[in-house]
Amino acid sequence: MVVRMRHTRSHTANRRSHHALKAPALAVCKNCNATHRPHHMCLECGYYNGRQVMDLQAKKEARQTRLEAKRSAQNVAVADNTPEAAADEGKK
Ligand SMILES: [Zn+2]
Repeated sequence: MVVRMRHTRSHTANRRSHHALKAPALAVCKNCNATHRPHHMCLECGYYNGRQVMDLQAKKEARQTRLEAKRSAQNVAVADNTPEAAADEGKK
């Protein structure tokens, strides 16, 4: 960098005075009193504007069953790869 281009400390600090992060503005849910993004659905209870717009309980249960199905499928795959299973296949 050429000396001509160098900024003073004051100049640098003035520029950086706009770099501070602001805390996000949050609204309080009227249904469950949790904080949520304003003008967005509450992620705790699925309510927006005093009305339930998404059944988060059902979504959570569906996700749980999906994960359990995936996990059991993986366990079956792992069981097929055990040495005993491989030895059994070798005998055939
Ligand atoms: Zn809520």
